[in-house]
Amino acid sequence: MVCKRCESKECIKNGKVRCLQRYLCKNCNYNFVKGDRRTTAGIQAKKACCVMLYSIGKISVNMIAKLFDMYRSLVYKWLNEAAVNFGEYEIRDDIEAIEFDEMWHFIGKKANKLWIIKAVDRSKHKTIAWVTGNRDTKTFRKLYKKLKHLKKCKFYTDDWEVFSKVLTKDRHVIGKEHTVTIEQDNSDTRHHLSRFTRKTKVVSKSENMVNTSLKLWQFLTENTTFKKFQSVFLSIF
Ligand SMILES: [Zn+2]
Repeated sequence: MVCKRCESKECIKNGKVRCLQRYLCKNCNYNFVKGDRRTTAGIQAKKACCVMLYSIGKISVNMIAKLFDMYRSLVYKWLNEAAVNFGEYEIRDDIEAIEFDEMWHFIGKKANKLWIIKAVDRSKHKTIAWVTGNRDTKTFRKLYKKLKHLKKCKFYTDDWEVFSKVLTKDRHVIGKEHTVTIEQDNSDTRHHLSRFTRKTKVVSKSENMVNTSLKLWQFLTENTTFKKFQSVFLSIF
């Protein structure tokens, strides 16, 4: 038997209610009845709400856990599950202009900075890829690897020297005036995900969660993938 509240398997029988076997979770002390109100559709709807509230509703995991009376670990589990289920993001091969930029974030404590280097498709104003790590050449190379096959594309950056080290001259355009789209995109990211607001108390616990958040946001702000998500979501009600 799996606990409805925290998904722990440490559950024992605890008497009967309305002729149904009741269980007690030894992990979180929650009493529940098998099958009762816990329909698949209900759980699916709850999952969809969690993902939406978190990804584009700017609601923290803490708040969501409180709202649905769930363990935070279960909210995290659902968010990660959703991100994995979306699969790989498809990068169109006819993109002509990509802007690169870096933004920072904290992991665990304020002294521990994590850099996010993003690539934005200028014509669509859309984050198509990113990497997380240190603010160095090695990290940026990982991002470039995901995009260098785009033959028609030029890359626009500010004058951070790492960009010139990795990008070839004929495809690289440098200048603050060329990275307006991505600056806007960074501020969108901070606006939509409570995790990325500039508030000093918002600190991520793991790099994995930063990537999960960015991925959910990427897919749920894309029309086609949002429609897919919505059709699954609406079929529940
Ligand atoms: Zn429990």
